[in-house]
Amino acid sequence: MSRLNALHEMPADASRLLAMSPDLLGACGFQGYITLLTPAWSATLGHPEEELLGTPYAEFVHPEDRPAFAGLVERLAEGARVEDVVCRLRHADGTYLWLLWSAQGSPEDGCFYVAGKDVTERIRLEEELHHRAARLEQTNAELQEFAYVASHDLSEPLRMVTSYLELLERRYGDRLDESAHQFIGFAVDGAARMKALIDDLLAYSRVGTHELEVGDVDLDALLGHVLRALGPAIEEAGAEVDVPPGLPPVRCDATQLGQLLQNLIANAVKFRAPDRPPRIAVRAVADATGVDLSVADNGIGIAPHQRDRIFKMFARLHGQDEYGGTGIGLALCRRIVERRGGRITVESEVGVGSTFHVRIPAR
Ligand code: ADP
Repeated sequence: MSRLNALHEMPADASRLLAMSPDLLGACGFQGYITLLTPAWSATLGHPEEELLGTPYAEFVHPEDRPAFAGLVERLAEGARVEDVVCRLRHADGTYLWLLWSAQGSPEDGCFYVAGKDVTERIRLEEELHHRAARLEQTNAELQEFAYVASHDLSEPLRMVTSYLELLERRYGDRLDESAHQFIGFAVDGAARMKALIDDLLAYSRVGTHELEVGDVDLDALLGHVLRALGPAIEEAGAEVDVPPGLPPVRCDATQLGQLLQNLIANAVKFRAPDRPPRIAVRAVADATGVDLSVADNGIGIAPHQRDRIFKMFARLHGQDEYGGTGIGLALCRRIVERRGGRITVESEVGVGSTFHVRIPAR
């Protein structure tokens, strides 16, 4: 087969078609020079055609890619075909472009045929994305660390405040008048609230740092633990919690799933209607792709416009005098569920009750 040395030696329609290609199509002789190229070479690399044809092609290759390139040319000289190899070429402005090549060696023609695509922008975007993700991950890790250390280090001075208040009450109680007792009471109360906040913040930051141990969690046993832990609150409220036996296992971290259920059931007890004892139903239905968990109550309900807000950190719809709390519980629940790739939502009717739905995917 006789070789063509230039596009204009080809049939007119074939050369016109090749000239339109945005990819770099051509032939490179085994003597080291490009012997045939489309206009895309000059358009992409910025070198005039004569320079591309008159310079050994290895000189355009990035120095770091040259050893791999030489190995490739050896394989092509034996008639090999290569696909999707990245090799950087020098642009006229001195920068290097990333090109993705396919090539077919043709020993009988004394050359290899190539098709190259400029993927510089794609690679740049991928690298940028990668850098941003790494930066974000680092910032997140630093924030986690900060929240953990801050809340951990706050515990100690708070313990001191509480114990000195207790000491004051014990030692000097009989010498204080009623207002002083009341003030100490307020201070003790404030310290207790602060302790609850710190404990919840610590729990929240641990959800992000704790290494997930995902396994098939026995829901019956886990709910048994949770209900025992909530026993005093359940009893005090006269609540009935309906948990049918034989619930399906849930693929999750057992500690975190326990925290999630404990928060949802504790809220169902806490936000009870003033005129009736809490009736709470826990359900779990498994299908091939995961488990739907729900905790339903007959409590005060949540207004439609508040239903997204309650999952935010510190979001509370009531004053401390009405219902105590830190506003972290549902944010913690959401974090647990999202870390596991799931979703938490709420359905509710004011004055009738609320149902929290949690979807935990199988994988
Ligand atoms: P906390 O219970 O400490 O206030 P949460 O994050 O657990 O904080 O809940 C945020 C808010 O969502 C609560 O203050 C309450 O107003 C509302 N809420 C949560 N669970 C229920 C529920 N079962 N019924 C009605 N309101 C609820």
